[in-house]
Amino acid sequence: MIIVMRPKATQQDVEIVTKKIVEAGLQVHLSQGESRTIIGVIGDKKLIAKLPTDVFPGVEKSVSVTESYKLVSREFKQEDSIIDINGTLIGGKHLGIMAGPCAVESMEQLLEAAQVVKAAGAQFLRGGAYKPRTSPYAFQGLEEKGLEMLAEAREKTGLKIVTEVVDSASVDTVSQFADILQIGARNMQNFNLLKTVGRTDKAVLLKRGLSATISEWLNAAEYVMSEGNYNVILCERGIRTFETYTRNTLDLGAVAAVKTLSHLPVIVDPSHGTGLWKMVRPMARAAIAAGADGLMIEVHPNPAEALCDGNQSLTPENFHLLMNEIGGISELMGKQLK
Ligand code: PEP
Ligand code: MN
Repeated sequence: MIIVMRPKATQQDVEIVTKKIVEAGLQVHLSQGESRTIIGVIGDKKLIAKLPTDVFPGVEKSVSVTESYKLVSREFKQEDSIIDINGTLIGGKHLGIMAGPCAVESMEQLLEAAQVVKAAGAQFLRGGAYKPRTSPYAFQGLEEKGLEMLAEAREKTGLKIVTEVVDSASVDTVSQFADILQIGARNMQNFNLLKTVGRTDKAVLLKRGLSATISEWLNAAEYVMSEGNYNVILCERGIRTFETYTRNTLDLGAVAAVKTLSHLPVIVDPSHGTGLWKMVRPMARAAIAAGADGLMIEVHPNPAEALCDGNQSLTPENFHLLMNEIGGISELMGKQLK
């Protein structure tokens, strides 16, 4: 069972609850996050069932959940979660569109991309400052300089920033610049990193691992939430299969599955999901029709010159077309851009 304490619960409230659990012959797993404390109760199911948790001070709710992921599950929360990213909402009827280059290459490139995606209707600018590349000889990103450029682009355009954090040591630094911390596919099971971002109050975009099952992905989200950060957005970005025509196989079935298993918003990245720019628009349309809460799209002012992922990046014209196309589908699905 898990016991979620109210955000305003005091240390004394937490101590009273944990004392009662121990007195009942059970064990406690305590997660003290920035905004709230979650108490895991471990032990004999019969003893757990007898705990009068609702009368304990400071308790928001207690739930017994059958899945290994608990806070993430629909059993825990029936309504769709809506994540508020400094005033922009994702989830429920709110669609979130994140677009921009794979990597921040220069101020000029980033600003041009930012203006394009803003004009087409995106609310978030994406761009990697730290790039986890397959080859150590490939462009690794501009690092802190890239973060500063992202912040400048936000200043100039009002777009919110989503950028990847690749290790626990840089979470503090990236948090100073980003509105959303992106956990990349390669780090989906970096449990230390998941726990570290779980101790911040930043929204977290959790990409599905290259070969992760839906259950592994949701358990990764549980790691973040178990530390007290409930602002998690899932991102389907394709998985590795026997197919080699596409870079990955975009699993839109996962969107429908996650919608039944979890209350968290799920967005789709058809750029990494296909690896081919020509497939990005059709798959973006399909993603919205499948019930996705948003999209992450790679857009470059000049894809042929991109230092990273040019093959899957849309030109400004194609991104405009995509945004026009999804307008009608989003409306049918009862979603709006805000
Ligand atoms: C990215 O979004 O730039 C990225 C590296 O994606 P993924 O982690 O899904 O490969
Ligand atoms: Mn990329």
